[in-house]
Amino acid sequence: MAWHDANAFQQGEGLDLNVIPAPEEVDASWCLRFLRAIRDVSFATIGADGLPSVRIIDVMMVTPERLYFLAPRGKAFHEDVVREGFVAIVGQTHDYRTCRLRGPVVHPEGEAEQRALVDAIFELNPSMNVIYPGDARYICDVFYVEEGEGEYFDLGQHPIFRKPFKLGGKAECERGTFLITDACIGCGTCAEKCPEQCIAPGEPYVIDQSHCLRCGICREACPAQAIVKR
Ligand code: SF4
Ligand code: SF4
Repeated sequence: MAWHDANAFQQGEGLDLNVIPAPEEVDASWCLRFLRAIRDVSFATIGADGLPSVRIIDVMMVTPERLYFLAPRGKAFHEDVVREGFVAIVGQTHDYRTCRLRGPVVHPEGEAEQRALVDAIFELNPSMNVIYPGDARYICDVFYVEEGEGEYFDLGQHPIFRKPFKLGGKAECERGTFLITDACIGCGTCAEKCPEQCIAPGEPYVIDQSHCLRCGICREACPAQAIVKR
C-alpha cells in the first residue's frame, strides 16, 4: 500500500478498545490498530550513553503493514532513533491488555515525502497543530516500523491469553517461551503447579503457549529438568 494513499491511513482508526477481540482476529495488522487506538505508548531506545531510555510517544497513524511516529529533530529521541535504527514499543489498556512490538525503524528520505507524511499525520491528529502551529510542524521527522516481532497479551482473562505475531518478513517471537522436552517422565507435577492450567498430559507433556504466563513455575517444579526456556 502506497504511503501517499490517504485512505490507507484511515485503516488504523475506529478500533474500540472496550471490545475484547476473538483470538483469530489478533494478527499483526490488528495489533498495529490496537497500538494506534491506545495512541500514547512507551517507546524504548538505547541512548547515546549506551543505556536504555523510555518515553511516551504517540502512534500517529498506521496502515495494515506500518506504524508511524514523529520525532522533532532537536530531541534526543530523534538522535536515538537515527543512531540505533531500532525501537521497542509497548502499550497497555486500563484492563491489562498489552501489545508490544520491536523492530528496525525506517526514516523516509526526501523533503517532499517527509512533508507529505507530516501533513497527513497532522490531518489525522489535529491536536498536533496546537503544539506545532503553522510551519513549525516540519521540525518533526516521520519514521515508521514495518518489520519486526511482537505479541498481544491479555492478563485480564483466566487463563491469560497471548498471541505472538510477525510484522513484515520477521519470524514470530518465540523468545522466552517454555518448552517441555523428551526428558519428560510424565509425572504431572508441572500440570498440577501451573497457575494457568495450560499444561496437558502427553509424551512429553505439552504447554499451550496461548495461555502460558511464562512465570517459570513449571520449570522449577520439574524433577527431571525437562522444561527449557527458548
Ligand atoms: S514435571 Fe517435568 S517430568 Fe513431570 S510431567 Fe512435567 S515436564 Fe514431565
Ligand atoms: S510458565 Fe507458568 S503458566 Fe506457563 S506453563 Fe509453566 S507454570 Fe504454566
